Amino acid sequence: MTLASDSRKPTTTDAGIPVTSDEHSLTVGPDGPILLHDHYLIEQMANFNRERIPERQPHAKGAGAFGRFEVTNDVSEYTKAAVFQPGTKTETLLRFSSVAGERGSPDTWRDPRGFALKFYTSEGNYDMVGNNTPVFFLRDPMKFQHFIRSQKRRADSNLRDHDMQWDFWTLSPESAHQVAWLMGDRGIPATWRHMNGYSSHTYLWVNAKGQKFWVKYHFKTDQGIQTLTGEEADRLAGEDGDYHTRDLFDAIERGDHPSWTLYMQIMPFKEAETYRFNPFDLTKVWPHSDYPLIEVGRLTLDRNPTDFHTEIEQAAFEPNNLVPGIGPSPDKMLLARIFSYADAHRARIGVNYKQIPVNAPVAPVHSYSKDGAMRVQKVSDPVYAPNSKGGPQADGERYPAAETWEASGEFLHAAYTLRKDDDDFGQAHTLVREVMDDAQRDRLVDTVVGHLSDGVSEPVLQRAFDYWRNIDKEVGDRIAKGVNGS
Ligand code: NDP
Repeated sequence: MTLASDSRKPTTTDAGIPVTSDEHSLTVGPDGPILLHDHYLIEQMANFNRERIPERQPHAKGAGAFGRFEVTNDVSEYTKAAVFQPGTKTETLLRFSSVAGERGSPDTWRDPRGFALKFYTSEGNYDMVGNNTPVFFLRDPMKFQHFIRSQKRRADSNLRDHDMQWDFWTLSPESAHQVAWLMGDRGIPATWRHMNGYSSHTYLWVNAKGQKFWVKYHFKTDQGIQTLTGEEADRLAGEDGDYHTRDLFDAIERGDHPSWTLYMQIMPFKEAETYRFNPFDLTKVWPHSDYPLIEVGRLTLDRNPTDFHTEIEQAAFEPNNLVPGIGPSPDKMLLARIFSYADAHRARIGVNYKQIPVNAPVAPVHSYSKDGAMRVQKVSDPVYAPNSKGGPQADGERYPAAETWEASGEFLHAAYTLRKDDDDFGQAHTLVREVMDDAQRDRLVDTVVGHLSDGVSEPVLQRAFDYWRNIDKEVGDRIAKGVNGS
């Protein structure tokens, strides 16, 4: 069959050589065997066999879009970062995801959602690997790998397993705040456009005078918060597993560009020492009454990817990408992620992943990295530092290590030092008892009863009742009654 019109380009091999047929292999006569030197057929088969790259572990299922961040307020008294100076506009990429499911899993499973941002700033890429929840299940990275395994699949049946999830959670009481959040209405967003993004972690901001502040980021949806009920989410999981992916893509295609307003919570550096709980504990929020939100700017998404694989699947977000004026905090989870994300990218897409266009900065690169698999940018001499041959030279005066704090102590394996208001259940209780209304609390009880009634066995079940009683006595009693049927 010939479809060719004059405007269509001739098919070529990957080497640009025109091919004879899109439909027929090279054979000995029409009925004879295929010839091995049909290199175009071989190239098509070989390429197909290598199309898949390893999926992310976790956050495998997701999608994203491009846009820009525009600063609308003057926060230069808190940070010198170019991206947050008044009036600055910066190109961005935002990837949304679920956590536990695989690449083909339904978008509407109950799960936290990833909110991973890349700002292509004039001082290099700035990444924030946020979530749609302000807290996390854990505060020590030693437990992270085990936590994710408990959320994924069993070794024997390869099935997800609520018993395994509650076993881990109830033996990890620091998870209570995030679990209460997850089992509440916000555990299933209506769409990615209708949820907030939070840095969750505390970061350090440094201004031009060298003054330091601890900060948390809140990207509040301008579309308003909307959620799905468990029943709606289950139905959608069957009818359209890609419901959130489709919603985002279609909204941007029709010109309905979603946006988020960025607000900061800002804590003067010294206050962290005496604050009533550890402000770096990832299982806790800073109450708004202590640290009110300060507006910074607006993030808008207005451009869909045209090739999902190169622009989203190969996108690499890493919290070690911090620009001058922004640094890490003593949050142990953040410090571990600073190693782990870049390591995951090297394992998944190769050591030169920052040369893939979606990961490449708009800022010039003058690094001494060299060679390695799939390097495409040329390296030039000198290939070492220090040198007297005109190679790049670090400028410690212009870029001092300003984003730092002091620490001292014995090397040990230990939990954070407890402060007056450090406990695992207090903020979970506030959420369940003071933030949720009666109807929300009823739905929370129903959700947890359903979850615990699905394969959770003793003694995990009793521990789960106590866990909920520690969060809120009445809610715990109702959950126990609901599961036991009396
Ligand atoms: P506030 O009353 O000032 O804040 C309560 C916040 O809870 C709201 O601003 C909203 O966050 C969020 N929220 C509302 N409904 C729900 C829900 N169904 N599920 C989850 N979050 C909801 O009180 P505090 O600042 O003292 O915080 C009280 C509790 O609120 C915390 O223990 C925490 O669980 C929760 N929370 C607090 C946040 C914070 O940074 N302080 C952020 C999010 C939740 P938003 O405005 O971000 O939409």
